[in-house]
Amino acid sequence: MALIEFRKVKKYFPVQKGFIDSLFSREESYVKAVDDISFTIEKGEVLGLAGESGSGKTTTGRMAVRLLKPTEGEIIYDGEDIASLGGKELRLLRRRLQFTFQDPTSSLNPRMKIGDAIADALRLQGIGTKEERREQSEETLEIVGLSPASSFYDRLPHQLSGGQKQRVVFGRAIILKPEFVVTDEPVAMVDVSIKAQILNLMTDLKKELNLTYLFISHDLATARHVCDRIAIMYLGQIIEVADRDSIYEDPLHPYSVGLMSAIPIPNPAIKKTEAVPRGEIPSPINPPNGCRFHPRCPKAFDRCSIEEPVLKDVGDGRSVACHLY
Ligand code: SF4
Repeated sequence: MALIEFRKVKKYFPVQKGFIDSLFSREESYVKAVDDISFTIEKGEVLGLAGESGSGKTTTGRMAVRLLKPTEGEIIYDGEDIASLGGKELRLLRRRLQFTFQDPTSSLNPRMKIGDAIADALRLQGIGTKEERREQSEETLEIVGLSPASSFYDRLPHQLSGGQKQRVVFGRAIILKPEFVVTDEPVAMVDVSIKAQILNLMTDLKKELNLTYLFISHDLATARHVCDRIAIMYLGQIIEVADRDSIYEDPLHPYSVGLMSAIPIPNPAIKKTEAVPRGEIPSPINPPNGCRFHPRCPKAFDRCSIEEPVLKDVGDGRSVACHLY
């Protein structure tokens, strides 16, 4: 059963024009950060969202927990369209949906004790007395592995290692007992030696609290350890979705093939020199006509620059947006 479903969701950000540009043109231009995406996440599933920087992953994640409002489309959460919720309804919804930011240092107040930072999520929702919030925060510190809680509660963020700060970030996310958590590059800012501990923590929390995750990562090697399915984004669109093993062992879309070939221990079946995409990701203000990937695609042919491929079901639970399929 789907816990969350995106239906034809778009997020466009208006581009601020300089004074001279505004004299010559009145036409508005937009960064098409997310441009017509549809996907579902099943209850209890970990869906990975992968792609290069600028592909729209973080914008998608922020819309999923309604930190951002979509420009168009529906986001169905547990049977209800949350795309345009506001006010009290949105505040109550936020108890059920949480987001962990990529950089734990900048997402924690440097002057707030970490125990208070975790308890603050309860205060903002008007839950409990000060003492009750402290008690719950201490319990949460233990759950995320900052034990004994009494020795961590009063510490400031600068007194913690990167991995410990990431644990605080997860603590703040789970204290409200959410159902769905979006984690944005949760191990991008921690040492390699700590990565496995944070991924294990995520997995343990999932089991203990029955969580569903959207796991945002540009690092496909890491995503493989925690995700059930992977969706690949390119320039604001989803271009392939498949279960973890299929997409790593037999990626279909030429862009997915390129990403897989960039993993440090690549699948030897993929010919690396053919697979790596050429050049840089184009501007999301004026994406290429036809298939957005065609200027970089080693398999492009005439139709690709004219007609935009749609994401379609190719069997075995896989979908791909490419004229080759
Ligand atoms: Fe390449 Fe054409 Fe497929 Fe796009 S539609 S990925 S350009 S082959």
